[in-house]
Amino acid sequence: MKFHMPVKVYCEHDCVKTYSDEWTSLGRKALIVTGRSSAKNGALADVTDSLNAHQISYCIFDHTEENPSIEMVMQVRDMGIRENVDFVIGIGGGSPMDAAKAIALMIYHKDKDADYLYQQGDSTALPIVEVPTTCGTGSEVTPISVLTIHAKRTKSSIPHRIFPQYALVDGKYLASAPKKILVNTSVDSLGHLIESYINLGASPFSRMISEYGMALWKDVKPALLSDHVTDEDRDRMMLTSTLAGMAITHAGTTLPHGLSYFLTYEMHIPHGQAVGYFQPGYVAAAAPETQAKVLELIGCKDIAEFTTLIHTLLGPLEIAPDMVDTAIKGIMANERKLKPVPYEVTEETLRKFFEMAM
Ligand SMILES: [Zn+2]
Repeated sequence: MKFHMPVKVYCEHDCVKTYSDEWTSLGRKALIVTGRSSAKNGALADVTDSLNAHQISYCIFDHTEENPSIEMVMQVRDMGIRENVDFVIGIGGGSPMDAAKAIALMIYHKDKDADYLYQQGDSTALPIVEVPTTCGTGSEVTPISVLTIHAKRTKSSIPHRIFPQYALVDGKYLASAPKKILVNTSVDSLGHLIESYINLGASPFSRMISEYGMALWKDVKPALLSDHVTDEDRDRMMLTSTLAGMAITHAGTTLPHGLSYFLTYEMHIPHGQAVGYFQPGYVAAAAPETQAKVLELIGCKDIAEFTTLIHTLLGPLEIAPDMVDTAIKGIMANERKLKPVPYEVTEETLRKFFEMAM
């Protein structure tokens, strides 16, 4: 049994500025990878103010696409090489944070082409700082980078394990996030907690984290269902997401995530929403005592209540029957997502997941 969490995590208000002496010492020039919203939520300004205060130069790529592709990673890696950067800062949701890892890998391996992203080999990368501004991915503490592979019409995590050096986690960056983003990303973190818990790779360490995370999620639930979200709720959502990231670092994700990639690629359903649809089915197929434990932790009296909760938060999944067949076929051939499931999975099991989502 092992527990390996080499990321230095600061989780408190204003941590970007408070600990800037430390993280700005990673190099002389930074490449900031972000999307457009980090300018609105204040995270980008906190990062650039800190870099300026320490006389560290930087360049910014702020057009990170949702579900970043291999092509985008290679384009930004070229920019990083041109600018001679020596560390990478990802600011935003899973897309910029995952992209930052892949870009940091490819800048370090300057002589490699895009194929290297999906090849086994040296995973050394430039140092990485991650600043999350959504509460779902947990990417700030995971070694995972999921990219879109257009040639295969899906998303898939790269085989390299790349831990950031710093995770700077501040719930205040959620203040400007639309409610829909808070819901979708919080449902994603619930998916991480559940899938890493009902998982053959779970250990007492990862279970401890999943259990605490699910108990926190229970307290986040009323805010997700109402129009009133307090600072305290946002802090709790952010912490839950970081804990969920630690849990998947150790046990990984399983069927719901595997199925979600298909929905996201083919139907453009946001990641958290796509993951959330399959959680009731995934829990319902587990052993009765596991099921009872999960439901108790997240504060649902039975599977029916959990299913209703997901429907209330996400609405029903609308999907054509032939798409269901294709998704099931795809996941039945996905050894990586099937292997950690602690129960037998048949096409029928998966069909039930869809029925409960619709
Ligand atoms: Zn996820």
